[in-house]
Amino acid sequence: MIKLHDKYFKSFISASQIDAAISNLVTAVYADVKNEVPVFIAVLNGAFMVAADFMKKYPGDCEISFVKLASYEGTSSTGTIKQLVGLQKNLKNRTVVVIEDIIDTGNTLVTLHEIFAAQQVKQLKVATLFFKPDAYKKDLKIDYIGMEIPNKFIVGFGLDYDELGRNLPEVYQLNENNNMINLVLFGKPGAGKGTQAAVLKEKYNLKHISTGDVFRFNIKNETELGKLAKSYMDKGDLVPDEVTINMLKDEVEKNTEANGFIFDGFPRTITQAEALDKLLEEKEMKVNGTVALEADDEILIQRLLERGKVSGRTDDQDETKIRNRFDEYNQKTAPLANYYTQQDKFYSVNGIGEIDEITNRLSTVIDNL
Ligand code: AMP
Repeated sequence: MIKLHDKYFKSFISASQIDAAISNLVTAVYADVKNEVPVFIAVLNGAFMVAADFMKKYPGDCEISFVKLASYEGTSSTGTIKQLVGLQKNLKNRTVVVIEDIIDTGNTLVTLHEIFAAQQVKQLKVATLFFKPDAYKKDLKIDYIGMEIPNKFIVGFGLDYDELGRNLPEVYQLNENNNMINLVLFGKPGAGKGTQAAVLKEKYNLKHISTGDVFRFNIKNETELGKLAKSYMDKGDLVPDEVTINMLKDEVEKNTEANGFIFDGFPRTITQAEALDKLLEEKEMKVNGTVALEADDEILIQRLLERGKVSGRTDDQDETKIRNRFDEYNQKTAPLANYYTQQDKFYSVNGIGEIDEITNRLSTVIDNL
């Protein structure tokens, strides 16, 4: 996920897919015009990258020129007038191949056809890297298409969002879901939820809410909530739903400006999951995905005991308490897998490996949400 100005964009078309599409364009164009020296005309600004790669791959003699379509306001009767800037070559009787980065509605294409008709070219062909069939509203034939894409706003590989993003070697798609991603990180104690949440919140610009951390903060500050939660936490039992749900609501409401949330350690019961759905729905939000970090119990117990030595967390220092937390998980939290599977929002990720590796596994899931 990347941010340009105020918007988020997610990976869409890889550099290798783009490269393959340009190779196909070159092959098709060369097959048609190999007996001539074509003039390629790239339409700036967007087409500079595709034009460069296209030229590098083109196997025959060829020329290139760059043009820019500029518009100025005419009188009220003529409306907006389009003009071509930069066309200095004499194109009479030449084979011209226009190179475009993208054709969507086709308005630009119509203008180009009108302009080149006046140049008395021998033939005019149009090659575009991307084509949006669902947006195209004209009848003009497009001779060469690198790749058809859905009607989404894209950036990268020469294409911009308000001038940013042209330098990206891959193509990204606007993340339309109100730019909000709400993730539930799911997994037994010690599965690495906190570690991964800390990385993911930076990567996706999300607010991390760990109910365990909020409880520990309250215990440290000896608040009423802390006093209430302590007795449960000390035994490794879950804090009652009502208390936890109210606390979670407060945390969400304190962060209304967030781009989305990572819920870590919440929900832990079906009642909590239902409360979360309701809370988010009231705010026109939703859980986008629940990702479970899977790891073997015996590995987790060793991890927790090690963590307990460093952190001083009493619930991590005693194997009996740890096993009780696992029992609580198996009885009350594990059924959530089914709850989210029914909503088609449950993803399972192997939680064993290097931190980076696990982040990559999680990111693959998140980027496809
Ligand atoms: P954690 O840091 O997520 O391992 O949570 C530590 C402890 O805090 C748990 O063992 C519970 O006692 C309590 N806790 C954290 N989140 C919740 C929750 N969603 N529901 C009930 N108790 C929770």
